Amino acid sequence: MESLWNPDEAAACGADPLALRVYGSRLLGAVPELVLHGGGNTSVKAVVPDRWGDPVEALLVKGSGFDLATIVAEGFTPLRRTELLRMLELEELEDEEMVLRLRLASLDPAAPAPSVEALLHAWIPARYVDHTHADAVVTLTNAPGGRERIRELYGRRVLWVPWTLPGFALARRIRELTRNLDWESVEGLVLEHHGVFTWHDDPRESYERMIRLVDAAEQALPAAAPPPAPAAPSPLELRAALRREASRHAGRPQLLRALEGPWERACAASASLQAALERGPLTPDHVLRLGWKPARVGAGQEPGEALEGFARESRERFARLGRPGLRELPPAPRWILGPEAGVLVLGPDRRSLDITADLVRRQLPAAALGEALGGWRPVDEAGLFDIEYWSLEQAKLRREGEAPPLAGRVALVTGAASGIGRACARLLLEQGAAVAGVDRDPRVEEAPGPVRGGWLGVVADLTDPGAAAAAVRAAVETWGGLDLLVSNAGAFPPGAPLEEVEPEAWRRTLALNLDSHFFVLRAAIPWLRLGIRPAVVAVGSRNVLAPGPGVLPYSAAKAGLHQLVRGLALELAPDGVRVNSVHPDKVFDTGAWDEATVAARARRYGLSPEEYRRGNLLRREVRSEDVARAVLWLLSDACPATTGAGLPVDGGDPRAI
Ligand SMILES: [Zn+2]
Repeated sequence: MESLWNPDEAAACGADPLALRVYGSRLLGAVPELVLHGGGNTSVKAVVPDRWGDPVEALLVKGSGFDLATIVAEGFTPLRRTELLRMLELEELEDEEMVLRLRLASLDPAAPAPSVEALLHAWIPARYVDHTHADAVVTLTNAPGGRERIRELYGRRVLWVPWTLPGFALARRIRELTRNLDWESVEGLVLEHHGVFTWHDDPRESYERMIRLVDAAEQALPAAAPPPAPAAPSPLELRAALRREASRHAGRPQLLRALEGPWERACAASASLQAALERGPLTPDHVLRLGWKPARVGAGQEPGEALEGFARESRERFARLGRPGLRELPPAPRWILGPEAGVLVLGPDRRSLDITADLVRRQLPAAALGEALGGWRPVDEAGLFDIEYWSLEQAKLRREGEAPPLAGRVALVTGAASGIGRACARLLLEQGAAVAGVDRDPRVEEAPGPVRGGWLGVVADLTDPGAAAAAVRAAVETWGGLDLLVSNAGAFPPGAPLEEVEPEAWRRTLALNLDSHFFVLRAAIPWLRLGIRPAVVAVGSRNVLAPGPGVLPYSAAKAGLHQLVRGLALELAPDGVRVNSVHPDKVFDTGAWDEATVAARARRYGLSPEEYRRGNLLRREVRSEDVARAVLWLLSDACPATTGAGLPVDGGDPRAI
């Protein structure tokens, strides 16, 4: 590991200690082998003015939950250092009480909640303090004889700190260990199963001590190359079944992603590596995202049976280690291993999948190295349980807020590049679903709005049955299943009386407006059967109930679709899949209409364009958003008892009522 410190960049920070603190923190955050996703913390001590302008000796420490890679000055919380040092004189302090007192010690009530390690940062006398969960150092402490290995590597340059729960307990322990310490004589603390602290009055030296200590540990470890193993992606059916079972145990829907790389292949092929990984994560901080262990699925084992076994073990563990007043976490895995399953991660949205995947990628080589050193020994069962159920760790997750209504659900929308399909896709994204949008138009690659769950744009011509099946498969490959389908793709052809319709035009209209729905539905059915509260909505037309002259091929296709939906509702009801349709009329904000067409039609009926637009009982122009809201409602849990229905979204048509 090399120092990334750039004197020119550091000089650009001027003499501002906080700017230098931000700079050094980001250098640590830039290296995944040091910290990931909110792990680690840093601080600087400085004299700052309080609200009266009086100078105060302050500790500016990273706010809890902030990521070192992207931290800004506002991510640091100024605290009165003297108050923190007084808190450290207490014999005991409950963690919740510590959090309250830290808030009282804050010089800025608008600043974020300070890191739970604030007391420890205050105790270390140097101006700059850096803390990481460096893989290489923690891997050494997780090997048999970890303490001796650290002593052998660093001599007396670092102080060994046996495993201690972070927060007040760890700060107190280090206070006891260093009471008579000459701080100049040591360069760092190595915390068993946890990480490294370094410090110095000079920010560069504090950072580079960290890099030197980690580099020495990396050099001391054997080379970590994954043993070769053949690529064997897990079957999609297995993934979908595991996703559904894991979601059931989690009590909320989850997305599932397969990780594929040399380490993942090696892990799938090695029962001993899988067994090692079951012993616990690299550093206890990871338990928050990875859970206490991955679920394992044996060769040929039923997914339901495997996850039931995991849930049973989780409940037994809670019964054994839990204390009164603790609420049991859902007995569901966050990641899954197996010879056929490979390495799978679970989470309610794209971001949590990314984080879990990043953390899993750190576990595999570390545990393999631990095994090579004589046996992977992360923190013991009780220590891991303490962290998992530590109120301050749980609070980090709570800060992420409530999940949106469709979090963890997978939706596929056809015709998603424009019009009604685009509006449906946007609403589904807003509700937190992971959405695959399919269209012939490449504009579909761009998401129609802010993405929380996930967006996959698929360019495909759905009149080709192979392309339709591939589009459905792409969604299942990306998120592990399919729950919601909006079968919307279609086109409104130029009007003509039936006697003038060429057979080719007839076939084209039916291919676009009926065959394509059949192809998508046929490909989606097996996945919907494995889905979570699955539902389908097809976009029909007012023409089904009130046909107009001059568009009979279109009317016939939509009438066919209507009948397809009703019949499919019968076929899929035993599997709990609801199938409905909406029947919109004259949705002018779609590609099917332009000003000239509206004007021509209006003239034909002797109306102004405005009158024509509002030519319904409610005198209301129907917009694609109105249709999308109806679609969303039919798909949602708010509509659990409706199947085989066709819902008009036409402003009221006397001929159809
Ligand atoms: Zn830590």
